[in-house]
Amino acid sequence: MKRYLLTAAAVLFPTLAAAQDVHLVHAGTLLAVPGEAPLEERTVVIRGDLIEAVSEGYLSADDVEAGEGEVVVHDLRDMVVMPGLIDGHVHLTSENNPQQRLQAVEMSEGDRAMYGAKHARDTLMAGFTTVRDVGARGGDAIFALREAVEQGWVDGPRIYASGSTISVTGGHGDGTQGYRDDVAALMHSTGVCDGPDACRAAVREQVRRGADHIKLTATGGVLSNTATGTEQQFTDEELTAIMDAAHAMGRKVTAHAHGKAGIEAALRAGVDSIEHGTYLDRDTAREFRRQDAYLVPTILAGVTVAEWAEDPDTFLTEFQRAKSREVGPRMLDMARRAHEAGVPIAFGTDSGVSRHGENAREFELLVEAGLTPMEALRSATVEGAENLGKSDMLGTVEAGKKADLVGVDEDPLEDISAMLDVDFVMKDGEVFKSPEGPRG
Ligand SMILES: [Zn+2]
Repeated sequence: MKRYLLTAAAVLFPTLAAAQDVHLVHAGTLLAVPGEAPLEERTVVIRGDLIEAVSEGYLSADDVEAGEGEVVVHDLRDMVVMPGLIDGHVHLTSENNPQQRLQAVEMSEGDRAMYGAKHARDTLMAGFTTVRDVGARGGDAIFALREAVEQGWVDGPRIYASGSTISVTGGHGDGTQGYRDDVAALMHSTGVCDGPDACRAAVREQVRRGADHIKLTATGGVLSNTATGTEQQFTDEELTAIMDAAHAMGRKVTAHAHGKAGIEAALRAGVDSIEHGTYLDRDTAREFRRQDAYLVPTILAGVTVAEWAEDPDTFLTEFQRAKSREVGPRMLDMARRAHEAGVPIAFGTDSGVSRHGENAREFELLVEAGLTPMEALRSATVEGAENLGKSDMLGTVEAGKKADLVGVDEDPLEDISAMLDVDFVMKDGEVFKSPEGPRG
């Protein structure tokens, strides 16, 4: 009878009823704030989608007031528990493969959204509870996917999306190179612009479409099918126009940039973060610190394209292959230089270049580049949240934050590769992966 009443209440007042459920997560070791000393034997108390408290010792159901709701205890006493992971650079609606140039003209927006749903699920199951999507091919599939996850129709990470990349005509974010003119006309992106006025309009168009942030390609890039190098593509005037238009509407801006001059031009124009950063040096590092801008190194993308370039059966075009050989192998050293020079680093993989769900490989590469395991974890939590401007709700396990938790049964502070095998995933207070079962 009680259960029947609860069900009726859940139908009539769904948010009220859900808010009464309490989860108690017993954490053997808790990295509540990665970067600070680990805590031992803690209980994370979760009500609805929020963390209510972090208590010493292991609380039982009798210790909490749940009203009509249920109290669910999760025994992670053998695990290291930390905030849900944040990947600051993904492309959920695509994944590089030999068919991608054909897919670009064959897939419908519906196909794209469903394809993205698979990638979203793989990403969440790898422990990444929040992602920033930085440039989606085609139309509004990424916004549909963001909504589907938010509504609970699809399992996936919390998505912040940029929509189309802002790029010059023929630049890295203009995906029409190599296609017939009449086909290219149909593929035209609302992010492609030339001149300050057109670029302001392109930014505002992304905001109208629902962009959470703005992504631009400040320099050439590796996987565009054109021999245009990796140097600055937008003029300084265009860069300033893009930053001003985005910031005026409360949107952060992140810039894809490889060449030194292009990185520095974007930083001077007021960009909030740089993606890749391949040719940065000591001067550039100083500019990062002065602007308080994040670097998202995406070493995994560099390693991935370098592997493809050396594959005799590679599906890369001639232009892509040449740039992959040039840029790919440099990214690990770039991350090392940046870290040594004190550039703030936020975790990002460029998944969609590499396979979705293998995001945690970036942790190993960051440690190879000289970050301590704790620094690497901090880049995907505390710094990841700050990079998104969401430190008020994400990035630590503290009262008032979103109930996003990840647990691993090996100690990543001893061996960072433990992050490749995540055993427990909770997002918004809901368990998606657990040793007790998929919805434990
Ligand atoms: Zn990317």
